[in-house]
Amino acid sequence: MPYSASTNIFSDILPSDDVLSQCIHCGMCLSACPTYELTKLERSSPRGRIKMIRSVANAEIPVSNIFAEEMNFCLDCQACETACPAGVRYGKLVEAARVFVDETFRKNSLKVRIKRFLLRRILADKNNLKLVSRVLRIYQRSFIKNIFEIFGVLRIFSRHLSEISKLAPKISGFFSDEKISLFSFPDAEVKYKTAFHFGCVMNVAFAEVNLDTIEVLKAYACEVYTPSEQVCCGSLHAHNGDIDFAKKLAGKNIDAFKQEKFEYLISNSAGCGAFMKDYGYLLKDDAEYSERAEMFSAKVKDVTEFLYAKNPARKLMPVSVTAVYQDACHLVHSQKIKNEPRELLKSIPGLILKETEGADVCCGSAGIYNVSRIEDSLHFLKRKVENINKVKPSLVIISNPGCLSQIAFGTEKLDHKVEVMHLVSVLRGSLYNDFSQKWKSSI
Ligand code: SF4
Ligand code: SF4
Repeated sequence: MPYSASTNIFSDILPSDDVLSQCIHCGMCLSACPTYELTKLERSSPRGRIKMIRSVANAEIPVSNIFAEEMNFCLDCQACETACPAGVRYGKLVEAARVFVDETFRKNSLKVRIKRFLLRRILADKNNLKLVSRVLRIYQRSFIKNIFEIFGVLRIFSRHLSEISKLAPKISGFFSDEKISLFSFPDAEVKYKTAFHFGCVMNVAFAEVNLDTIEVLKAYACEVYTPSEQVCCGSLHAHNGDIDFAKKLAGKNIDAFKQEKFEYLISNSAGCGAFMKDYGYLLKDDAEYSERAEMFSAKVKDVTEFLYAKNPARKLMPVSVTAVYQDACHLVHSQKIKNEPRELLKSIPGLILKETEGADVCCGSAGIYNVSRIEDSLHFLKRKVENINKVKPSLVIISNPGCLSQIAFGTEKLDHKVEVMHLVSVLRGSLYNDFSQKWKSSI
């Protein structure tokens, strides 16, 4: 049944008509858009999608399969926002459109129900996520996985299932929240009072990176406050049509982090940091949280943004490696953080940093895009890996868990011999002079 916006549900979800009318149809965003580049169809461009959103919101056209498809084909990478001279906040529009599609047109679809179950009951529930992660860890380290891979067992059920299982990040040997104390202190005098958000996927699959982040913050004379009551930031929910649940998670985080205990809230995940910086906007109409959400968001800093602005209390030791840095969309386009990670890396003695073509173009990870639209995702990943391979680095450095898994998967799949590490782990290796050990354990 075609839905129209005559019920005004869509208009209620959309930011405001002003935002929708901001697009001046100049087309400057077209060359920045990976999906437009792939199809060359206007409807797969930011400008085309904005036109469709406006038409549906004004009830000029009904919601159709094409509309739903285009809203989900979009990577929500926000490269178009960087290119846009009119300051259109496109991400807000597409995220609202996804809510509308899932709440109306696809309300009863099995795919939407499964997605909601996984995002709400597994990802956002720390205990359930740990339980699933323990099972996955056993599978990933067992001979069963090797047998499944050798005989292509998962392929029998679905080719995608086989690819998705390879894409899943390797579950850490421990979970970081079980190792990080409520307060961590530097050896030297405390200069900055920070708090740390350890994330959901980061906590179970990049536990080492979380511990490295604490160590790096300590080396920058930070006290680090890490309350265990914190939860998933909610970005994946908001980007996938479940804004209401994202708001609940935002409220829980605001309650968990006692604001008098810190001046800066540090995130080492670009997607989480970008979203927590937006809690003020997300909860602006919430009588209970709006004020605290605004204060909370003002304290959020990406780890690279924070460190670049401060000086380490320790000397940086040489790291002999030729590396490239790949921007995470939610760092470079959402948070406009481009130079800070590069400058931090350039400050490490011995590290040769090379640039690649398309470093700021989406790798196709895009939240759960690489699971829900694997074919499209692989197209973007292939181009990313080929660009990396042109400069032949021995290390790819990234600041976001989704991109880390995606690019590691891509380099292995395309047989390009290169390691992938989070920026804080490289920095930690230099600060504590143990990069070669870290390097060996990652290969
Ligand atoms: S968010 Fe990315 S994929 Fe979506 S329209 Fe903008 S540039 Fe294109
Ligand atoms: S660059 Fe901005 S104003 Fe121009 S068409 Fe794209 S979204 Fe519209």
